[in-house]
Amino acid sequence: MKITEHLKKSNGKTLFSFEIIPPQKGTSIQELYDNIDPLMEFNPPFIDVTTSREEYVYIDRDGLLDRKITRMRPGTVGICAAIKHKYEVDTVPHVLCGGFTKEETEYLLVDCHYLGIENVMALRGDAMSHQKYFEPTKGGNEFASDLVVQIKNLNKGKYLHEVIEATNKSDFCIGVAGYPEKHIEAPSLESDLKRLKQKVELGADYVVTQMFFENKKYFEFVKKAREFGIDVPIIPGIKPIAVKRHLQLLPQVFKIDLPEDLIAEVEKCKNNKEVRQLGVEWCIEQSKELLAAGVPVLHYYSMGKSDNIKAIASQVF
Ligand code: FAD
Repeated sequence: MKITEHLKKSNGKTLFSFEIIPPQKGTSIQELYDNIDPLMEFNPPFIDVTTSREEYVYIDRDGLLDRKITRMRPGTVGICAAIKHKYEVDTVPHVLCGGFTKEETEYLLVDCHYLGIENVMALRGDAMSHQKYFEPTKGGNEFASDLVVQIKNLNKGKYLHEVIEATNKSDFCIGVAGYPEKHIEAPSLESDLKRLKQKVELGADYVVTQMFFENKKYFEFVKKAREFGIDVPIIPGIKPIAVKRHLQLLPQVFKIDLPEDLIAEVEKCKNNKEVRQLGVEWCIEQSKELLAAGVPVLHYYSMGKSDNIKAIASQVF
């Protein structure tokens, strides 16, 4: 079922969902199941599965370093199919511009359609680790908005090189990313919102936000988005802080700020066990306030480990 249909069916009740990352190559999918199992009691209507950019690895060949490009966490669509069929839940593969030609994207979308996957998140992706700026892949999409256009075209039977009067067209529901603290490359929040509006006008059906640790950032973002005429559901994405190192890592990777009182509390913690507990308590408070405000879904970034998400969900749902 489409995410938009799940939202309609919920009749305004806040739903629970979460995002997982594929395991590293060579690892069993069982570890993923072990982390999903405890969360199924909260009836997620959908689970997101991220896609990682490719990266360079250096292979020692008789003393000479050979640079090869590889993906450490492939398998997004396969994992989506496996989870969908094991748990009878909708899955949302993240589809990236970066690292994929438009043809590869088309084949991936065709696979999703055959697998009964009805939702996709359309994302640009970040720069590769050795790049300063995002560089579009040769023959690939440049912005998430271009990817939205490609997906919408496919929904109409317009493939890249031919129009097919398909008897069984795809009808993907499309999610896109929104940034309460603005995307790092956007010159202003307003210009970022204009780009978000463009994604919606081109066919995005809903927005999922980057993580935030102060709800007022989400509420202000939604208010501004509505003033800009963005009228699709805006799903808050949240994450419990889990280790002390997150104080530096989260701002660095996700380009977000942490509130002073959270920083002070984390700094007081004696070890990461205490930080993990603090993260759970902070996230429970955030979740309860968002729930009271009637958000459509509470979408948790699980980063593969679910004990803390379960602790939060059991206090909130
Ligand atoms: P876009 O919407 O293309 O925007 C990128 C930047 O370009 C913005 O600054 C925007 O303002 C600007 N812009 C947009 N259109 C134009 C235009 N036409 N001309 C000029 N400027 C323009 N990354 C992954 O690698 N894998 C994932 O699975 C993943 N999942 C994510 C899930 C969520 C919910 C979120 C919020 C992010 C996720 N990301 C993921 C990170 C995302 O790929 C990065 O934040 C990326 O830098 C931007 O992606 P986007 O889709 O928002 O890009």
